[in-house]
This record gives sequence, C-alpha cells and structure tokens, in this order.
Amino acid sequence: ESSSAMSPATVILPKKLPLLIVSDGVLLPGSTIRIPISTVRNINLVRSRLTSGNQLRNTVIGIVTKEPDKEKNVNVLHEIGTAGLVVQVTGTNWPRPSYTLLVTGICRFKLVSIIQEHPYPVGTVIQLDDIRSTVDESDAQLKELVEEFKDAAQRLLELLDVSTPAVAKLKELIKQVPSQQLTDMIASLVRASLPERLQVLDAVDLATRIRVTLPLLHRHIQRLKEDREMEEEEGTRKDRQIIRMTQGGRNLSSDPDALEDGVDDVSELEAKIKEANMPDHAKKAALKELGRLKQMAPHMPEYSMTRNYLELVVDLPWSISVKETCSISKARADLDADHYGLEKVKRRVLEYLAVRQLRGDLKGPILCFVGPPGVGKTSIVKSISTTLGRPYHRMSLGGVSDQHDIRGHRRTYIGAMPGRIIQGLRTVKVNNPVMLLDEIDKLGTGIHGDPGAALLEVLDPEQNSTFTDTYLNLPFNLSQVLFVATANSLSTIPTPLLDRMEVIHVPGYTQEEKVMIGSLHLLPKQLAEHGLTADILKMPQDIIANIVGEYTREAGVRALERKIGSVCRAIAVQVAETRTEDHGTKTEESNVIMPEVEDGGLQKTADIQKLENDDSSPEDEQQVASVPAQPLMNQTSLREHLELPITIDAKMVHDILGPPIFQSGLAGRVSVPGVAVGLAWTPVGGEVMVVEASRSKGDSNLTLTGQLGSVMQESAKIALSWVRQHAIMLGLEKDFMKDEEIHMHFPAGAISKDGPSAGVTIITVLVSLFANRCVRSDVSMTGEITLNGVVLPVGGIKEKLLAAHRAGLTTVIIPTANKKDLADIPNAVLNDMEVVLVNSVEEVLEAAFDDGFADTLVSDPVDNISKVIPSSKL
Ligand code: ADP
Repeated sequence: ESSSAMSPATVILPKKLPLLIVSDGVLLPGSTIRIPISTVRNINLVRSRLTSGNQLRNTVIGIVTKEPDKEKNVNVLHEIGTAGLVVQVTGTNWPRPSYTLLVTGICRFKLVSIIQEHPYPVGTVIQLDDIRSTVDESDAQLKELVEEFKDAAQRLLELLDVSTPAVAKLKELIKQVPSQQLTDMIASLVRASLPERLQVLDAVDLATRIRVTLPLLHRHIQRLKEDREMEEEEGTRKDRQIIRMTQGGRNLSSDPDALEDGVDDVSELEAKIKEANMPDHAKKAALKELGRLKQMAPHMPEYSMTRNYLELVVDLPWSISVKETCSISKARADLDADHYGLEKVKRRVLEYLAVRQLRGDLKGPILCFVGPPGVGKTSIVKSISTTLGRPYHRMSLGGVSDQHDIRGHRRTYIGAMPGRIIQGLRTVKVNNPVMLLDEIDKLGTGIHGDPGAALLEVLDPEQNSTFTDTYLNLPFNLSQVLFVATANSLSTIPTPLLDRMEVIHVPGYTQEEKVMIGSLHLLPKQLAEHGLTADILKMPQDIIANIVGEYTREAGVRALERKIGSVCRAIAVQVAETRTEDHGTKTEESNVIMPEVEDGGLQKTADIQKLENDDSSPEDEQQVASVPAQPLMNQTSLREHLELPITIDAKMVHDILGPPIFQSGLAGRVSVPGVAVGLAWTPVGGEVMVVEASRSKGDSNLTLTGQLGSVMQESAKIALSWVRQHAIMLGLEKDFMKDEEIHMHFPAGAISKDGPSAGVTIITVLVSLFANRCVRSDVSMTGEITLNGVVLPVGGIKEKLLAAHRAGLTTVIIPTANKKDLADIPNAVLNDMEVVLVNSVEEVLEAAFDDGFADTLVSDPVDNISKVIPSSKL
C-alpha cells in the first residue's frame, strides 16, 4: 500500500467521533466512495468539522449506516461503522446547501453510544480492526483461505475494466497489499446488496471476512463471464457494459433513484407554479421554463440551473403582503420603549410616518439615518418595522462595488444568482417588508458598473414597480417595499441617491445619556443574553458611568454594550460554576433561573468543547456521559453559594475589564509649549485631536506630518503667515524663525485628515511654541481662519462639542457664526462647559492662554487690522 499518513497501521482512533449517517451505502476500509450529503445533520457536520473557510480540515469522521429494523419498522444505526478520512468536499451553498464527500475508509469501529445529537451526532467508539496483526503463518487453514481469495480476486480484476482507477490500482498492488485490507478492498468492488455489504463490515475477523466475501466474489465473476458471453453474441454492447461495470454497485446514489427524484421535482414544481398566484406574464414564463425542464435529462447541468431558477420564481412573494398596522400613538410608544432620548429623531420619524399615512402611499422620499456607528440607527429602523407590522430585512451595502450584486447576474453564467433585492424578498416572503439599505455611503464603484445607479432604479417610484432583476428576467413590483437607508457620512453618498432621500441626523450621545441608555436598555438586554436576571446581577448607574468614562470613548454605545456584556459574562461564569458544583440539588421548574439555551444549554456546549479535544482522558468521558443533559438549578440553592444579587462595584469592574483604557491624559500632554487641543469631525463622531509642534535648527521650513490633505496644509501656511505678520504684536523677535525649523504633527499619524477647521488650533500651537507659553489645559477649539485673522464658521459643531465633553475639556472656542448650532446641544453638556464665541484670531488667543494675550495685542501699535472685541461668552 502506498502508505499515506493515514495508513491504517498508524491510526489510533479518537474515543469520540463525529458521525455521518448514510442510508444506502457502506464504506469499507481501504476503499473510497462518494457520499451525497443532504440531511441537516450531515450538512451541519460538514460545515462545522470539515470546512472552515475554504480549507478542508483533516478530520476523521465515522460513517455509520442506517438500516431498517423490520420488526419495529424504524431505522436503526448499524452497530459497526467505518472511520473515514474526507479527501474532498464538493458542492454548493446556493440555492440550498448540497455537498458530496469523497471519503476513504480507514478502519472499523464499534459504536458504543451516541453522546450528542445536535447539531450533528457524535458517538463514543471502540476501534475494531487490529491492523497491525499479520496473518498467522502457522494457521494453515487460514493461509489456504487467503490464497483462494487472492486467486479469485485476481480473476475478478482481469474481468473488470481497467479504466476504473480503483481497479487499475488494485491490479498493480494485489501482490503487496496485506490480506487484511485486500479483502475489504475487493469486497467494495464486487456488486452486492446493502445487507451483504454490512455482513462484510461485521466480519472483523479475517477468516470470517474471507468466508463472507468469497461467495460474493464468485457470484460477480460468474455474472461478468455471462455478460462477456452475451456480449460476444451481440457484439456491440460493449460500451454500455463498461459503464455498468464501472458503476458496479460502488456508487451510493444509484441512477434510477435520481431519475425518480427528477420526476417528482417537476410535478412538485408544477403544482407550486399554479399555487404561487403570480401575475400572468410571470406564470406564463414559468410554465414555459417548466416545459423546457421536462425535456431535459436530470444529470445535465442545465437541468439544475433551470430547476434552481424555477424554485426562485415560485418562492418569490408575488402577491403575498402583510397588512400594515400603523397608528401614530403606537409608533410613539414603540420608539420610546426601545430608545432613550433621541427626541428630535423620533419626532422626525413620527412626522414621516404620519405624512405617509395621510397620503396613503409610499412615494415620499426615502428616510436616511446618518450618524456615527452605535448610535441606534439600525435599531430605530427595526422599531419602525415593528410598529408597521412589516417584516424587516437588512441589506449591508458596505463594499458592494458591482451592480450585479443589486441587479443580479445573467442566468447563463455559471453560478449566476439573483441580486440582493430579489434574494431579500425571497427570504422575507412578503412583498412589502421594511428593507434597510445599511451603509449606503460605503457603496463602491468597480469595473462591473455602478451599484449606485442600480439602487437608484430600485428606489425610484416611477421605475420600481417594474424592477427587472437580470437573473429573474421578469419584472417584479417593488413599489410596496419600504426602503430605509443608513450612513455614517453624507459626503460619500452618490448625489443622485442623496436627492431621493430625506436625511435624519442621529448625533452622538452625551455621557449622561449613555449612562441612562446603559442602565435602561443595554444592561437588561445583556442580562437576558447571558441568562441572568436583575435578581442575580445589579449594576448601579455610577458604575455604568465609570465604564463609560474609563473604558469607552465613542459617539455611540457599541463599546459600552460590549463592556457591559463582558461583565455579565464574567458573572454568568461564576453562577454557572456554582451550578455545576451542585449537581445533586433537586430542581424546581418554577424557580429555574438558567434559561434553556438553544440546543441544550451550557452543558452541551461544554461537551462539544471537550469533543474538540480529541485526546481527552477516559475519566472525562465518564463524567460527560453521566452529566444529565440539562442540569438546572433553582435560585434558592444558588443563594446558598453566592450572595445574591451580586452588585457590581468599581473593584469588580477593574478585575473584569482590566485597568481603565482611557484616562483623561490630556492635561499632561498640554502642559508644554507648542501643544493645543483641536476638535475634529469624523464619520464616526467628533474627536479631540492633540496638535503638537516643535522647533529645531534648520532653514526656516515648516514640516507637517499626520497624513494631511491639501486644505489642511494650506491652513498651516495661512497660520504661519499670520504669525509672521503679527510677530511684533505677539512679542516675538523680528526674525524669530531664522535658522529654525518647525515640525507640526497631527495624531493619529495613520489616519488621513483634511478640512479647514483646524486653522485656529494651528495658530494657537504656533503662538504657544514661539511665545513659549502653555495653552490652557481645559481648552479645545475649532474654526477656519483667513489670512487676515478672521475666524469663519465650520461644520459638525455638535459632534465636536460632545467629543470635548467626553474628554473632560470644559472650555470650547468656536466661531461666533456657529452660535446657531448650540441650539442642538443638550443642556446637560452646555451646563458643564463654557463656550467662547470668537470672530478673530486675537480672541482665540485671548481665550486659549491663561491671562490671555490681550495686553500684548491691545497695546501693540502695529495692530491696525482687527479690533479686539471682548470675547462674548454664553
Ligand atoms: P447603528 O446602526 O447606529 O450603528 P445600532 O442600532 O446597531 O447602531 O445600535 C447599537 C446598540 O446600541 C444596539 O443594541 C441599540 O439597541 C443600542 N442603542 C443605541 N442607541 C440607543 C438608544 N437611544 N436607546 C437604547 N438603545 C440604544
């Protein structure tokens, strides 16, 4: 035997094997068969044990045959199975998963017990074949048997067709293969019924196996001889014969079955077409395709393509819609129940729903929620769908750069699929769902057309009643679908799309809002997700505030939700450990606190984990077997072990989440000259940005780093010019930059940034550097500057102020022209902060430095450009 890594002599089977259950075949050691996979459990097995990504994992699985038990009229598992190595997986996931495995048998095992049923069966096994043993030379009887068998095998091989790889290989190897394996290999070549094959499988002992196999061998030889004779008489049937011979019973899915399948399929499809209530044109087209299908042979690739297509056609919700339930008061209640705060957003949504209801159609603009991640955009859309009683479907558009993704591929291509819209409708099964177009700002454009243009067609009420997916090739009416979009930023949404949308901004939350969202929404959600209740775990608001401040720095609440989840998980583990220590306790159903997790709960998960670990000791197994499937525990007995409720305190938070990630480190960084804090707007919310500058010997250059865009570089030049122009006024030496090189850096260095709003920060940094004075550590700022030192308004004031607030910066300098934006800022934030409105650079400097620059500025006679206006404060 070309002894591969898995040559039987080296194999020691794990004590537990994932089992693949087959109904009409037997795998014998040494042979290789194809096994079609169609049952859910077998599919689960393939997915979780064999394929991870596109890689075939080197896993040994057990193949067990299901046989009918005639007395009880049920199927039972055959007690002896074959461990096999999967050498190939082929198949497809769409439209429904179906795989074929190529498996090579390694050795027999005895199935002792099934220790897991879901998601796929796992059994404990005992290895049977002792492959290392050779034929006992002293046993003359056995020796004779082996010789007889080899003779017969030789004769069979001569009759069989060499074009079959297994035959060719055996012919070569028959002299070398140990008799133990030869019997199995030959047995798998001969034509035999299922019970006969099982008999061979059951014959562990070599002599018995030969005795079982020999008659089959002789029978096959006899038949082949007869065939030969007939053939010689008829002369011409040779070709067909070969086909039949090579199929010789080794193939598990025999052709007649497949044919019957095909026939069933067609009539089933026909019935479905008639029931699907399609519009006439679609029905006509479908029946025509069905007619073509009837003409095709089931094994042709076109057959399955046409069948897939027809299955899609009958699955589509041509005329199935849900009745909309919308009352504005219910909408208000639903939105309030799921979301804290967001008053303005909720009001806009209600207005939208009200208008829609009054007009009675959907031809209004499409809602688009714009804001940083984790602020509840998706969650609002879900609430809308609940309110309306329409099913919800989310389509993530991030990274979609091919119009075929939206519109579908032509059916003639291999692997063609309908587009996302049609697939979505097939999934939700109604023609009026709420469809969320998530991350519409992340659409790309590639070489395969513009997905934005395709979406435009989908969203346009003039066109979408006859939307034609390229794959489906039939118009489908999308006018009842309620489309809603989300985006992080408006700037990258294609303009024609943006024109069709009504934008609702969802800004970030303040610290206080986050604490409330945490305690009212995220905590209950995480408790439920970890099988806990408020009776077991309590997390006071000041602790949530701690988490918000020390472990998160974000506009939304995603990280907060994760951190709360981590705490819940840690407590859940404690509770679960206490529970396992306490198996003996009786359980009272009424008082059960561990909810039954799907598929058998925590204990099952632990089992599976143990299974992954193939070399677990026998003791482990014992324990696994004796543990009841779902041990439950009541609260009273839990109380004896843990003091309930467990109230989270600051120390526990540190223990679980580690040392704080964010501490207001700004104060320390700003305490040298040449550093100031700017405020930036990003698609993920506002951010504070510590801008630094340093000087060294050089030739009067300005170096900028931090991946700045051209607008920002220009701001820096403007700033430098202004400082040069006002050197005397600022109290600087006349040639203060002579032989000096300035380097200015904008963190984080790897993120590119642009925009004019850093102007005031850059000037402040330069002045601080040259004047050798520190900027106030509690100040942050934003604003565009002109060459003459006028401060112009900028965007994103709300996000920027929230970011400053998060960072604990209590004074914010903004352009006076942005005063109107303050109306959007929650009072909780404004009360904590001093907002300084400025018109000119002088005012910025006045506010940015302790004791200001005013004295110098006002007393300077050169300054005739801008008057100093005392900073107006809120
Ligand atoms: P987005 O779509 O904006 O990225 P999500 O809708 O996924 O954010 O929200 C993230 C999580 O935060 C969700 O669990 C959501 O329920 C929760 N959440 C966000 N905002 C609120 C809020 N105002 N009230 C309650 N929960 C919220």
